[in-house]
Amino acid sequence: MSKIIHRSLRGTLPFAVSAQGVYLTDREGKQYIDGSGGAAVSCLGHGHPDVLAAMHAQIDKVAYAHTSFFTTDVAEELADTLIAKAPPGIGHVYFVSGGSEAIEAALKMARQYYVETGEPERSIFIARRQSYHGNTLGALAVGGNEWRRKQFAPILIDVGRVSPCYEYRDRRDGETPEQYSQRLGDELEGEIQRIGPRKIIAFIAEPVVGATLGAVTATPGYFKRVRQICDRYGILFIADEVMCGMGRTGSLHAVDQEGVRPDLMAIAKGLGGGYQPIGAVLASSRIVEAFRKGTGMFQHGHTYIGHATACAAALAVQKVFARDKLIEQVQSLGAYLEKRLHETFINSPYVGDLRGRGLFRGVELVADRATKKPFDPALKLHAKVKSEAMNQGLLCYPMGGTIDGVTGDHVLLAPPFICTEAQIDEIVDKLARAIETGTHALK
Ligand code: PLP
Repeated sequence: MSKIIHRSLRGTLPFAVSAQGVYLTDREGKQYIDGSGGAAVSCLGHGHPDVLAAMHAQIDKVAYAHTSFFTTDVAEELADTLIAKAPPGIGHVYFVSGGSEAIEAALKMARQYYVETGEPERSIFIARRQSYHGNTLGALAVGGNEWRRKQFAPILIDVGRVSPCYEYRDRRDGETPEQYSQRLGDELEGEIQRIGPRKIIAFIAEPVVGATLGAVTATPGYFKRVRQICDRYGILFIADEVMCGMGRTGSLHAVDQEGVRPDLMAIAKGLGGGYQPIGAVLASSRIVEAFRKGTGMFQHGHTYIGHATACAAALAVQKVFARDKLIEQVQSLGAYLEKRLHETFINSPYVGDLRGRGLFRGVELVADRATKKPFDPALKLHAKVKSEAMNQGLLCYPMGGTIDGVTGDHVLLAPPFICTEAQIDEIVDKLARAIETGTHALK
């Protein structure tokens, strides 16, 4: 019996003993194709020689140097690389060890910005329902996934709430996508008015929603409207690109395709590609300049910020992206994955929606396609699909149940960027069999 506190304390997990390319192998010798990159992490697959070599070289030089004493060449080069490709206005980077830490740091930076600039009365964040921003207390507070936050709610800060941009379920009959974007913007403005514009620090959202809804993209104009509204009320916009960022949707940042510039952006997962735990906040120069002119510091810190070996891994990932033109590959392979999903599920009675961008794809499962009626959450279809997929030797990322009053099951796919078309075929075929067997078991 494992002594590790895994998420589920019932049941057992296979032991991963080796991993190469897009496959992991367990102790019994069974192979799994990594259709979700873990949790949208392993963008370069496993055992990539360039990343391993960069980490080895860095460990031989300096594995770790605490940032209260030193900076390192590798951290500075990574910062320069990320800034060179960041949306306009972003001029600084704060390195952390993962997604939740990046969100915590972004929330604190946003708050400190208003303290530094003489508006300390700003103390409230607005976020969307059915969003996930991490499991630490600040990130959990802004997250809108009631299932995750329910038992901790009494110890979380209050947050303003608006609807997610979830076209499949929420766009009304006769409403165009643009009108839907407009309506959601009106809702955000209404929430700002209700709370009081001068009390609000920032609006936070995932440009493409990952774990909670399954690769849900925004309707045209939605984020442009969000940006306009934030500017109108002097509110910061924080983009959570922990899951959807770092090339996953076919551009380095998902916001690049929305044509908006965030004030703060959290990245993680694909940044280190799973080779090292690393995340970062990309911050606009305006914010950092305010700190510089004010207290001269960012009142935050962790032991492992700017970890040299983690930075070496992330820098190597960036170099491989550029050398092997992997973001372009995400676009072409993403189009192939989209095509294969449509061909495979076009006639499936249980697939209500196929969505996403690049190599970030969601499959929403429904009991009735015509009415979009979800499966009864008590059936736990998502869990059945996950275990069937594991049986087939496929790693995918199903989620579901009732989330903030909305019931549904979906599967997230986020394969490594280095996949071949044949491996995409394998992922889609195995997923089809897992959905078929999973839904069959319910009859
Ligand atoms: N934000 C988003 C959008 C995420 O998907 C996640 C993790 O899945 C996080 C934040 C938290 O990241 P981590 O699990 O690295 O703390």
